[in-house]
Amino acid sequence: MTPKIQPSENQESVTVQIPTYDMARLNGDLDLLCSELQTMILDELSVPDLASLAKTRTENDEGVKDYMHKRREDILGAFVKDVGQFLTLLDRTGLVVSCSSALHLVQAKAMAVHLRDMDVYATIEFENIMMDHFKTTEGYKVMNKSSRKNEYDSSVVNEVYKLEKGEKKVDIIFTDWASAIVPILQYHSTAVMNYIMARSLVSLYPQWTTEKKSLVNPRLYFEDCTNIRSVRALMKYVRRGFHVTTEPFQLGTHDCQQSAYCPHATRNTLDRDTLRWIFRPVNTLGDIPVTCDDMAVIMWCLGGQECKEDGDEVSSAFITVGG
Ligand SMILES: [Zn+2]
Repeated sequence: MTPKIQPSENQESVTVQIPTYDMARLNGDLDLLCSELQTMILDELSVPDLASLAKTRTENDEGVKDYMHKRREDILGAFVKDVGQFLTLLDRTGLVVSCSSALHLVQAKAMAVHLRDMDVYATIEFENIMMDHFKTTEGYKVMNKSSRKNEYDSSVVNEVYKLEKGEKKVDIIFTDWASAIVPILQYHSTAVMNYIMARSLVSLYPQWTTEKKSLVNPRLYFEDCTNIRSVRALMKYVRRGFHVTTEPFQLGTHDCQQSAYCPHATRNTLDRDTLRWIFRPVNTLGDIPVTCDDMAVIMWCLGGQECKEDGDEVSSAFITVGG
């Protein structure tokens, strides 16, 4: 695909509509357009659609890879000075970036949520490295630090640091579980169950997420975790145009025995319903070894009330970290 795709500066003016089922028809035609038009089209596509387009032709694959690479640079670059160095840190420590930054990258750029802050999830063993990086290298100040309320709290979160640098806000969430991803599975709804790793972008409920549908995590009401903060967080996604519900069938029908979108399904981060976009290889700094390419596989079940009408059985949620 030539010329090379560049992201547009003005996402407000994009009006091009590309039907999602027609990706193959773009094959061969896209590079006849000027780079600005190519970018306008890509800005309308969510990651599953971009992945379909990339499969149609080697040139399209190259163009989409460049486009996604640049989008990730832009998103992370809004919060860190040196994206390459930050990605190397991600690679060394297995930390992940989640919440609005990751959701932004899963959605089509033209329709993506506004980027306000960045949430970074890490395992507690890297607390010193992480805090040193953000304070010393990036120049952030710690505005607040909170710890897990008490030992009976079912939350997997140990500590939350709130950092600021001018207008920029970064939250760093530490867990003592073996994987930084675990807190994301306890979060308020499926819309935020996406994360950026050093080499990939992962969406655990890609179909719902790209259609702006979101299931409230049953944990929130079955484990008595609802508080004003979680309600505010849910309302934020409603304001962002998401259909947020506690009832899975309001988001479309599913076969409880088969579907990954049944809250009682046992899922894992490598199953075919998990969307994974692989970025270009990360440039490592000097001779720093790359160690966290393969993260542990996480299995989970959202649980909650039986799907069928009048069903009053409740299955409990679980999260396990595999080797
Ligand atoms: Zn079901």
